[in-house]
Amino acid sequence: MNLILLGPPGAGKGTQAKLLQAKFGVIQLSTGDMLRAEVAAKTELGNKVQAVMDAGNLVPDDLIVALIAQRIEKPDCRNGFVLDGFPRTIPQAQALDTMLTTKGLKINHVIEIRVDDQAMVERITGRYTCARCGAGYHNTFNQPKVADVCDRCGSTEFTRRSDDNEETVRARLKAYHAQTTPIAAFYQQKGVLRGIDGMAAIGEVERQLEAVVDGQRAC
Ligand code: AMP
Repeated sequence: MNLILLGPPGAGKGTQAKLLQAKFGVIQLSTGDMLRAEVAAKTELGNKVQAVMDAGNLVPDDLIVALIAQRIEKPDCRNGFVLDGFPRTIPQAQALDTMLTTKGLKINHVIEIRVDDQAMVERITGRYTCARCGAGYHNTFNQPKVADVCDRCGSTEFTRRSDDNEETVRARLKAYHAQTTPIAAFYQQKGVLRGIDGMAAIGEVERQLEAVVDGQRAC
């Protein structure tokens, strides 16, 4: 089973992709995570894309398509994958189509997580993660049980994404509406688009997502 999670920055794609990975064994493929790894490792690609990411703009299609094309060749993708943050433009969606067709694969569901933009600014600017285990927290909505200590691993080191500041978040939302929103219609035409309410609590979003994946609900 191959899935795409669609939704603006902050909609919860990463959180839900991890839950889908744990529950259904589909590998989370996050182009944002892949790019951040390239930036951290100071590779040629990382150096090329850092400024674009910090400005909240989209990395050129050819670079992203090449990254995904390489990644889905890996054996861990054979049981299926959940794409998180890709495709983000119509040319990326078309390139993905071609890539999958040549491999005899297809996308089973494109799940659009529907949310309010204004709420996304608050969600994103307050979020941070444990530097050791990656557990996610939020200044207002999800603080560790003991202040400044990770619930999961006990670490006291936390990090924030450099592009999670208000100015960049607004640019990322703008890029989403200009370049990514048309993708919903692209997949609607193919009959694979499903919508869920991303403003609900995490557990409820998870329940709706599972219902789609289990094929019990199409909207
Ligand atoms: P994300 O972690 O998905 O919010 O992505 C962080 C940043 O990485 C975005 O703001 C873009 O600069 C870049 N990025 C991630 N995925 C893509 C993509 N599919 N196409 C273009 N740029 C991307």
